[in-house]
Amino acid sequence: ADGEPSGDVMTYHLKAEHELRIEVDFDRQVTVKLLSGDAEIFGCELPKGGAKTLSGVKCAIFTWHAAQIQIVGKPDACYEAEASAAMRSYLNLHTALEERRKAAVTTTSPTTKGPRVLVVGNTDAGKSTVCKILCSYACRADAMHGGVAAAAGHDHWVPVFVDLDVGQNSVTPPGTICAVPVDAPVDPVDGWPGEAPLVYYFGHASPGENAAHYKALVESMARVLAQRETDDVLARAAGLVVNTMGWTDGLGYDLLLHAISALSIDIVAVIDHDKLTAQLKAHVGSQGGDVQVVKLPKSGGVVTRDTNFRKRARDRMIRSYFYGSRSELNPCASAIDASSFKVFRVGGGARAPNTALPLGATSRMDPLRVAPLPMTRDLERCVLGVLHGDNAALGDADVLSKPCAGIVCVTEVDASRGKVHILQPSPGSLPSKLLLSGTMRWND
Ligand code: ATP
Repeated sequence: ADGEPSGDVMTYHLKAEHELRIEVDFDRQVTVKLLSGDAEIFGCELPKGGAKTLSGVKCAIFTWHAAQIQIVGKPDACYEAEASAAMRSYLNLHTALEERRKAAVTTTSPTTKGPRVLVVGNTDAGKSTVCKILCSYACRADAMHGGVAAAAGHDHWVPVFVDLDVGQNSVTPPGTICAVPVDAPVDPVDGWPGEAPLVYYFGHASPGENAAHYKALVESMARVLAQRETDDVLARAAGLVVNTMGWTDGLGYDLLLHAISALSIDIVAVIDHDKLTAQLKAHVGSQGGDVQVVKLPKSGGVVTRDTNFRKRARDRMIRSYFYGSRSELNPCASAIDASSFKVFRVGGGARAPNTALPLGATSRMDPLRVAPLPMTRDLERCVLGVLHGDNAALGDADVLSKPCAGIVCVTEVDASRGKVHILQPSPGSLPSKLLLSGTMRWND
């Protein structure tokens, strides 16, 4: 790199379509400043002269034309690299999506929709990053058609980001799936906008724990999104950008096909995976030409993360749900009456692996069976989803279809006093008395 060192201050002169890749650990802080030119972090523009403080991130500062960047502090890694191949193809995809949005907003047909993109690929392919770039570009594009935009008070699109990755969630805590309208470029420090997300609690870090439950939640979410699009032409035109998990074979592949169908996906963007591209083309690309399968290159900057890092990232995500990303929040420890709350689990009895069954026998466990759980010490450390709903009118189908208002963590069960001690993000009574449990555990 052509950085000019001066103490802990470095100035980099980036060439067109190059990026400065930076890794900053959680215990460090590095400030980046755009001195001249143009630069963006995963689609979010850096304001000229404005400083951003990065901590606990691995990211790239990319420039389309040229940029002079000042770095203050000691990043764990910092190097310049050429990035045109990946960024150009992400931009080309964005341009194609824009055409679809414009066509959808100008058509008189109430059924024509904007693009519904599903981003797939192996773990550490850069899927979340591509989703970020596509959403941020949509928010930046001044593409709205005068009358419609003015009437709705928007000057850019508001696509919906759907995160189906229950293990490495971007917006909401692990074990959930969510849909969130993105009304501003995704800030590299603050992350995705968290306003009014539609969240469903699954309760496990992998969909393989109960695929039928996972599918039921994706379908419930799809129904709510479809209703929103029926009522709102701009939402219909802006479309969806869907992030998936990196499990692409066997059951993982089946779940991708399910998501494509449930969310009426019409563009599948496959990152750097020839076999998956060919499989998807054969499966969904040939069905009347409704679903387009496109291949995207992987950015050379994507950082790989091992199982241990992922587990720590999940714990950190739950911690920041309660304490804030900069420990700025005060969670509330409270005790609730065991008798007035109901905790449910989805799926029958203890999970016996098929290999543990007698030869030829299959498990009779109904994966969609909703069973009440006793308030015992087994619940300690359990992360529970608080469902929207009303105890009185509760049926099994509600547990499978109700969105989640938030999560709580059980710290202690005091059976003798009939009390359950929980940690919740803020004081006050919980929005409902319906709690859903899974296998997610967390220790404060
Ligand atoms: P998962 O396996 O969790 O599904 P993913 O495919 O969604 O992962 P990302 O989360 O997009 O992958 O990327 C992995 C990491 O690499 C992230 O920390 C991201 O910020 C980083 N990253 C992505 N692109 C670049 C780049 N060009 N330069 C530097 N870091 C990058």
